[in-house]
Amino acid sequence: MIPLLDLGAQYEQIGAELETAVVSVLRSGRYILGEEVANFERSFADYCGSRHAVAVNTGTSALHLSLLAAGIGRGDEVITTPFTFVATVAAILYAGARPVFVDIDPETMTLDPNRVEAAISPATKAIVPVHLYGQMADMDPLLMLADRHGLVVIEDACQAHGAEYHGRRAGSMGLAGCFSFYPGKNLGACGEGGMLVTDSEAVATAARCLRDWGQQERYHHVAKGFNYRMDAIQGAVLSVKLKHLETWTELRRAHARSYDRLLGGINYIQLPTEKRGRRHVYHVYAVRSPDRDMLQQALAAEGVQTGLHYPIPVHLQRAYTDLGYRRGDFPHAERAAREVVSLPIYPELSQAQIEQVAAAIARDIHVH
Ligand SMILES: *Cc1c(COP(=O)(O)O)cnc(C)c1O
Repeated sequence: MIPLLDLGAQYEQIGAELETAVVSVLRSGRYILGEEVANFERSFADYCGSRHAVAVNTGTSALHLSLLAAGIGRGDEVITTPFTFVATVAAILYAGARPVFVDIDPETMTLDPNRVEAAISPATKAIVPVHLYGQMADMDPLLMLADRHGLVVIEDACQAHGAEYHGRRAGSMGLAGCFSFYPGKNLGACGEGGMLVTDSEAVATAARCLRDWGQQERYHHVAKGFNYRMDAIQGAVLSVKLKHLETWTELRRAHARSYDRLLGGINYIQLPTEKRGRRHVYHVYAVRSPDRDMLQQALAAEGVQTGLHYPIPVHLQRAYTDLGYRRGDFPHAERAAREVVSLPIYPELSQAQIEQVAAAIARDIHVH
């Protein structure tokens, strides 16, 4: 059995370090924000090459607060991709704005900058590109468009810790960048967590205030805020794990190169591409197949667990039908949703396991 993800294998390696860090928080008696979280904020801001980092309870909260801190609200439109996790879209709705979808570039499956301009209206205030699977969206043309039309760019970097675009880290290129530390992400908490990074002092200050009930100082609520604070235990855990992140990312990248090499000869499936000048961090290694469901079943029969990121684009989800979109509106996103299947990828995956997965795929192709 080869799982899609094995968090137990990571714990085997760094369990002792994590336990020391957690016990020290337990003994401190300080369980929310505090020194542990502040330390993690400083190291994560440095890691991203951003001036400020504001720790929150989830990636969704980071997106919500980024939009609010950028002044986005009722009556505003925010352009994003329908081929993402629903949280991207939910956060835009939480801010009171209207999500406006633009189709993906079929090669990278990220927001297609060439289609964005046609979706800009007088109400458009922001663009939220999603660095899907760990590869950054095409930021230069998006930032140029945003600049020309006076829009802000907020990066959904929830899958892209440490990804790069021409030497710039994910999260550091837009007005703000948002990260998730959901356990399965490339940097994962032992529970929930999120982070907003920004170079803007004003955005950082607004986000700090809003995450803690809108308090500027104790007892003084200057805004209607939220309880979006990060737990001290998660701050301590994430500080430990951040020290390992580059090693883990390089292992993910090496595993992707192995898959590329082993699967390269099979023309029945399409492999993910890493664009020139971008560092893909392979949160997800998704191949495409016109017979995705059969491939997934064949792999399951051989003990290889796979995932679907994502089988239904957001504009076709029942909960979001009131946005007014229909089947056929975003053909590239809809086709990707039918064809993608995610193979096991995590740092601790062994070369033998990668070879087993590739062999199982090759056998399935012969059956066809
Ligand atoms: C995980 C994820 C989120 C939400 O993060 P949470 O921490 O689960 O709230 C948002 N956007 C994308 C693209 C994600 O993958």
